[in-house]
Amino acid sequence: MRDTHQNPILPVEYLFRLENFGHSFSCPVFLFRPTHAEQVFTLFEQARKNGFHIGLRGAGRSYGDAAINSGSVVIDFRRMNRIRDWNPESGVITVEPGVTIEQLWRYILEDGWWSPVMPGTMFPTIGGCLGANIHGKNNWKAGTLGEHVLEFTALLPDGSEVSCKPDKNKDLFYAIIGGMGLLGVFTSITLQMKKIYSGDLEVFAWAEPNLNRVLKATDETKDNDYIIGWVDCTAGGRGLGRGQMHSANYLKPGEDPYPAQSLNADNQDLPNTIFGLVPKSIVWQFMRLAMNNMGVRAGNTAKYLMNYTIGHKKRYLQSLIAFTFLLDYVPNWERAYGKGGLIQYQSFLPKETAYDVYTSMLKLCKRRRLPSYLGVVKRHRPDNFLLSHAVDGFSLAMDLKVTNRNRSRLLNLTQDLNRLVLEGGGRFYFAKDSTLTPDDAAAYLGKDTTEKFKKLKAKVDPDRILQTDLYRRCFR
Ligand SMILES: Cc1cc2nc3c(=O)[nH]c(=O)nc-3n(C[C@H](O)[C@H](O)[C@H](O)COP(=O)(O)OP(=O)(O)OC[C@H]3O[C@@H](n4cnc5c(N)ncnc54)[C@H](O)[C@@H]3O)c2cc1C
Repeated sequence: MRDTHQNPILPVEYLFRLENFGHSFSCPVFLFRPTHAEQVFTLFEQARKNGFHIGLRGAGRSYGDAAINSGSVVIDFRRMNRIRDWNPESGVITVEPGVTIEQLWRYILEDGWWSPVMPGTMFPTIGGCLGANIHGKNNWKAGTLGEHVLEFTALLPDGSEVSCKPDKNKDLFYAIIGGMGLLGVFTSITLQMKKIYSGDLEVFAWAEPNLNRVLKATDETKDNDYIIGWVDCTAGGRGLGRGQMHSANYLKPGEDPYPAQSLNADNQDLPNTIFGLVPKSIVWQFMRLAMNNMGVRAGNTAKYLMNYTIGHKKRYLQSLIAFTFLLDYVPNWERAYGKGGLIQYQSFLPKETAYDVYTSMLKLCKRRRLPSYLGVVKRHRPDNFLLSHAVDGFSLAMDLKVTNRNRSRLLNLTQDLNRLVLEGGGRFYFAKDSTLTPDDAAAYLGKDTTEKFKKLKAKVDPDRILQTDLYRRCFR
């Protein structure tokens, strides 16, 4: 591969410093922001001729290195963001890959539709969400976003275009979705939305005193539309894994007396201030002061005590946006982690091993004095996608602070955590990952899947044009 810095067709004007979402590393790339698929076709042509590789990027909301291609070309799809077709009768929508989740809900909500699968933030693009095949707080019930795709067209690195449905070019359908931008580029995506009758959800909140009860509660309340557990990973002893649970349900027809009001996008907007006073844009700077082991532990304890007393067993109506995108409440919250940023460590364990493995993981993090500052538990189900992350079980996502001093200790910790997850028959999620080695990735995916992926890659991308840092790290 030629050194792309010397490549005359990659002019220095396109040189750009990119970061991952967690701000834990950055690198120079040649950044292109096409408005039409023809420009992507031209870049593929140039890559084949001049021997450089290309990484695909949506909004760059993957925590690790999935949308970064150090020293080479990155295509950012956010200007390919047109809604091509919308049918408010059937709820079928066709979009370009750069349409964001925010654009989507603002467009369809007042017609009484909602995406059946939503991530915890509204800023990602649909192309990026399908690249990773995202799940929501309803994964055990609604599956992944890919399960709601009726059809997509993709541009392959050889310049050909392919149209895929669940029963047409099936192999590519189940591999490009979740394929982390390594097999082809989504150029047009048709999705089925979900009918809703109110812009509010009925939410039930309660506290659980330990991990066993959190997992049990997550499992036992599967008849709800959504369920999530917010876990205090700093607590130890009998309180290990304690947390607050939120379940939520859509309102049925007729239950919302003013659906036009609640389904109005303007009424869903998150407030710009806290308590009507403090601008939210500056809140992360105050949070930064408490982003250390002691500060987070004190904050979590206070929150848990509140949840266990005044917040226990509370039922209330909450807007879809506030419930779904809770993490967007504080803009740039990830900056509160300081200069070194954070990595997210999300592992997926079968229901049979989850309790034991997560207990060992939480204890290990505490012992090494590298506790997660936020923990999130979800319930999942398996799916048919090639690079699937899901299991019939649970996931625990942990946000780990990175500093110059703890970098190597953190690496050791995550290697040990990887071992525990693999021993428990668990899986990982490339959208969140920063730590897997090729052996770990092969162990989680299995030999057959890894071979199948590599074969498919050799077929559709023989020159290995589509690459990212994650690809080179996990599929060497
Ligand atoms: C606060 C926060 C909360 C989150 N909550 C969730 C959650 O609840 N559930 C969940 O599953 N994830 C969640 N995520 C992760 C996020 O949804 C995924 O990483 C998603 O892929 C980000 O989309 P993006 O547009 O930013 O894509 P990027 O991060 O830019 O890219 C993601 C992948 O898609 C590929 N890609 C991008 N565009 C295309 C294209 N046009 N064609 C083919 N491949 C492409 C990229 O190469 C990359 O591999 C969360 C992330 C954050 C920051």
